[in-house]
Amino acid sequence: MLSRSLYSQASKALLSQRPRVARSGVLGRISARCLSTFDKHHDVFETLGIQKTNNKGVFDGEWSGSGPIVPSINPVNNQVIAEVVTGTTADLDRALDRVAEAQKIWVEMPIPKRGHVLLAMRDALVKNLQPLGKLVALEMGKILPEGVGEVQEYIDILEYALGLSRMMQGAIIPSERPGHIMLETWNPLGTVGVISAFNFPVAVYGWNSALALVTGNGVLWKPSPTTPLCALAITRILEQTLRQHNLPPALCSLVTGGTDVGVSLTADKRTHVLSFTGSTQVGREVGKVVQGRFGKSILELGGNNAIVVMDDCDIDLAARAILFAAVGTAGQRCTTTRRLIVHESVYDSLIERLIKAYGQVKVGDPLDDGVLCGPLHTEAAVSTYKQVLDSVIKQGGEVLCGGQVLTEGEFEHGNFVVPTLTKVRPDMDIIKNEAFVPILHTMTFKTLDEAIAINNGVAQGLSSSIFTTNPANMFKWIGPKGSDCGIINVNIPTNGAEIGGAFGGEKETGGGRESGSDSWKQYCRRGTCTINYSGALPLAQGINFG
Ligand code: NAD
Repeated sequence: MLSRSLYSQASKALLSQRPRVARSGVLGRISARCLSTFDKHHDVFETLGIQKTNNKGVFDGEWSGSGPIVPSINPVNNQVIAEVVTGTTADLDRALDRVAEAQKIWVEMPIPKRGHVLLAMRDALVKNLQPLGKLVALEMGKILPEGVGEVQEYIDILEYALGLSRMMQGAIIPSERPGHIMLETWNPLGTVGVISAFNFPVAVYGWNSALALVTGNGVLWKPSPTTPLCALAITRILEQTLRQHNLPPALCSLVTGGTDVGVSLTADKRTHVLSFTGSTQVGREVGKVVQGRFGKSILELGGNNAIVVMDDCDIDLAARAILFAAVGTAGQRCTTTRRLIVHESVYDSLIERLIKAYGQVKVGDPLDDGVLCGPLHTEAAVSTYKQVLDSVIKQGGEVLCGGQVLTEGEFEHGNFVVPTLTKVRPDMDIIKNEAFVPILHTMTFKTLDEAIAINNGVAQGLSSSIFTTNPANMFKWIGPKGSDCGIINVNIPTNGAEIGGAFGGEKETGGGRESGSDSWKQYCRRGTCTINYSGALPLAQGINFG
């Protein structure tokens, strides 16, 4: 049983990070209905090495933690799952030194050998796929298949990194000088700091750590303060693999904690690359601080993603894709579809299909079979849901279906809402910002140019899709006058990206790219090397100097 003073400490820590989590009312309720989630899913926690209490939240070769004790909360019922002794900025300071020491050893290892270690990490994740997926579902609230899918994404990127370990090539560039050769080299930068968001508590770290490691860096992870258990479980698996290979486990260090730890990691020069995934609001500050010290940042920020539905599309295909894109993860993916831009001639028939499909979505416990929509991660998100719906009405829109917060029976203590469709106009303020809830705003257009202008008319630029069977529409959409997003899809939803492509977005989404393509280069310093084997000293541009 957790004491009240521990909870008040936890409450303070969470308050400094995310006011929406530190709910005094909830904390009061928690002490009355303590820890049954842990007991119910004991096998998962036992397999992953998580205790009910006293989990140390810092790993830098050894497990420790001298910060506030913070509860991890199950969004299904707002009960405490387990508690974590989080880290402080002093813990971070020590961990940054330890990662740097470990990286000196790691960087000496030939790159294909690094690949073998990544393969072993992959195998360890495969062995723990189901319990890890279940932990994601319990702590974040996404449904079990999505929780498992998230861990699978980490497995996929480790396989990709294994391939890269044999294929990371530089260029040979023609030199204008006789007897000279120019090369491009890619060497590690040192330490990659990863600050991650609550909604992908495993995959975001997976994308970053796999590429950071194969390129020869060490990694320090500061996860979301509301998903520390996933971070602990993953770090423990990496620790075991590194130890089995006689490598210093501090190579994959972890400091759980709140804003203070994130701020220090961002400001610290020992963080050579800072990969930040989170809201645009926080990312804007993080970007400035890293730029101020001439560090490198990778920013993966908020989206406000749209699907355009043309009159020539396969409307059943579009309806199925829209349902997954708007309702999946209860609207809490960065790539969730938030705006649906429909040709006026097919609007009514598409909306009719969608209302029917929305009516069949089962909301409930993310571990239950058949449930498609789990809870929102926090109670504050439920308030956001209500506020958005109020604004829709105030601004002259209408709610087409959904629009309810569920509070009865099995939903009584959780953060459950009904996925919602609204009808709005493209000029309404309410559709300009990302609200991390399952509300899809629908609107009409007459021409493709108009649809593209609506798609591009927001500050964010993450993901976008068009549904059409006309090649001319497809090529316009992906061309210079098309979608201005980083992810530009045709006949698939805005979400559910594969790891092989570069993932990220433009404008206020931050411009970063992670995962596939040549994203690995961001974790490296590029060297341009000119080697003179001529014995003479001809200068570039034909300059004759003395
Ligand atoms: P958030 O911005 O509240 O928090 C993200 C992380 O930043 C947390 O670990 C938090 O502790 C840390 N943090 C908070 N203040 C900080 C500061 N001043 N300096 C350094 N770190 C700080 O985001 P969230 O609510 O956890 O996640 C949801 C957001 O993340 C959404 O906007 C979503 O679109 C975005 N997201 C984007 C992507 C992408 O790839 N583009 C992926 C997932 C989530």
